Amino acid sequence: MAARYRVFSVRVAAVVSLTPAFVRVTLSGDDLGQFSSVGLDQRIKVVLPIPGHGFTDLPDGADWYGAWRALPDDTRNPLRTYTVRSFRPDAHELDIDFVAHGDTGPASRWVASCAVGDELRIVGPAVPSSPAELPSGAAEFAPGAANRILLAGDETAAPAICAILEALDVTTVGHVFIEVPTDADRLPVTAPAGVEVRWIARNGATHGARMTDHVHAWASRAVGDAGGVSGAGAAGRAVSGAADAGDALVDVDVDQQVLWDVPPASDAQLYAWIAGEAACVKELRRHLVRGVGLDRRQVAFMGYWRHGRAEN
Ligand SMILES: Cc1cc2nc3c(=O)[nH]c(=O)nc-3n(C[C@H](O)[C@H](O)[C@H](O)COP(=O)(O)OP(=O)(O)OC[C@H]3O[C@@H](n4cnc5c(N)ncnc54)[C@H](O)[C@@H]3O)c2cc1C
Repeated sequence: MAARYRVFSVRVAAVVSLTPAFVRVTLSGDDLGQFSSVGLDQRIKVVLPIPGHGFTDLPDGADWYGAWRALPDDTRNPLRTYTVRSFRPDAHELDIDFVAHGDTGPASRWVASCAVGDELRIVGPAVPSSPAELPSGAAEFAPGAANRILLAGDETAAPAICAILEALDVTTVGHVFIEVPTDADRLPVTAPAGVEVRWIARNGATHGARMTDHVHAWASRAVGDAGGVSGAGAAGRAVSGAADAGDALVDVDVDQQVLWDVPPASDAQLYAWIAGEAACVKELRRHLVRGVGLDRRQVAFMGYWRHGRAEN
């Protein structure tokens, strides 16, 4: 039985503008004593207040989700997905790094005006209440036996990538490409010595274009490496071309569906994790799997958001 997901009541304990694009909000509250953290790219739902109405109608029982879905539009609090950048269980504090992208969505609007003391709700896993309950926490990074990694993402994936980097084994090697709006948006992060981290400033270029170029260049170099992009594991699940690349790749219509193609951990020596704007992730998926022949079972592809579309 998986751990229960529930609504946690928290308050804003700090708001720090990290860079022009990133705002770190620290949430705190005794309720977080029951929050179950799995680290890495763990995602939670942020529940936004309705102006003038707050959280008055937000259900919090065991079937909070069903009850929330049944609410009329004007009293149903918006939910948005964010990454736990860090969690300090003893202090009952949790950090989220929000991308400030203007007032187009409830989350970015909220973060632009939030202040210490403001109420918020998050939805996440509760600490297991019995040994029968397995801890679970909605983290996707699953490198299995891989010692070589590729991480790529835009600014919305930067919090997840930074949390992953800080948790990697020191012997891990690989490449990381993080596209951010401007040069001023690079964040300090620690990574194993063998992992090269490149912050790529968009500086007005099309969203995702510069990161795509870097990943394409990485793929060209990787194909030329002795290990190739396959990095087959002990079981010899090698991939040398698209024909071997696991199940046939079906393109996802990112305007209709969520692009979320995440494999379980495997014994391959190379593992890639790619997240960000869905059209960009889709292009990289096509290139890496169909074009270069990377086994889909070695890559997690996640469309974190879609240009022009609200999360729900
Ligand atoms: C697993 C997961 C983890 C995530 N972690 C983070 C995180 O840690 N930090 C973070 O900032 N985001 C994160 N995101 C992305 C975040 O959920 C979306 O950006 C979300 O759409 C923001 O909600 P909103 O209310 O601001 O905008 P919405 O109401 O969802 O969208 C309104 C408009 O804004 C546009 N928009 C949404 N996001 C952006 C953006 N970043 N830049 C420009 N335009 C945008 C939409 O295309 C739409 O046109 C994560 C998403 C997933 C799935």
